[in-house]
Amino acid sequence: MNLSLEQNYQILLDQIQKAAEKAGRDPGSIRLLAVSKKVEPERLRILWNLGQRCFGENRVQEARVKIPEMPTGGEWHFIGGLQTNKAREAVECFDVVESVDRMELALELEKRAAVAGKRLKILLEVNVGGEAAKHGCPPEKAAELLAAVGQLGRLEVKGLMAIPPFREDPETARPFFAQLKAIRDRLEQSSGLDLAELSMGMSHDFPIAIAEGATLVRIGTALFGSRGP
Ligand SMILES: *Cc1c(COP(=O)(O)O)cnc(C)c1O
Repeated sequence: MNLSLEQNYQILLDQIQKAAEKAGRDPGSIRLLAVSKKVEPERLRILWNLGQRCFGENRVQEARVKIPEMPTGGEWHFIGGLQTNKAREAVECFDVVESVDRMELALELEKRAAVAGKRLKILLEVNVGGEAAKHGCPPEKAAELLAAVGQLGRLEVKGLMAIPPFREDPETARPFFAQLKAIRDRLEQSSGLDLAELSMGMSHDFPIAIAEGATLVRIGTALFGSRGP
């Protein structure tokens, strides 16, 4: 049986709350990012009407058409790999870029934010699994990247993001979530910056991410169903 989007949303909010309580955390400290890639604005407005305000997109071309079709006042996160030649549009469309993983990209975002007269919230994406095909700054380079990005006046680093290697068994992601949190704790200590945001956990492993400290869970399939590659 197919559940409605409303039902999926309610179930998911319940699951997030339960995972938080089980971990002894305040459920209010965890936000749901509805990953809306490949989903029509009509369906997103259903979530909007239920109170959802945070949405995540992984393609600039798709988002630049979709976001203007949504009510204003939402919080739009870019969560995909970002080419520098898309930085200008990303700055125009998004409130948060979660996938900053190299200085070249940070510099371009800084430049474009300055032109647009904006400040941009960002997360540093860390490649915790060390997979060659994945985006993300290598863990051992994160301190260096943070120090350099911290010099940029238009970018506000809010925390870290990671996409661990995918395995059927969600438990295999746990050490990677723990690793991201440990990196964050270390960076906070060494930099003195407030890096509260930990964006980690997706449809199949978010309860584990919450147990390991996630503040932002990025969820698509569990809400909208499977949308192909
Ligand atoms: C698509 C996507 C998600 C959501 O994944 P689901 O398994 O559909 O919940 C989360 N993060 C990123 C970076 C994505 O591209």
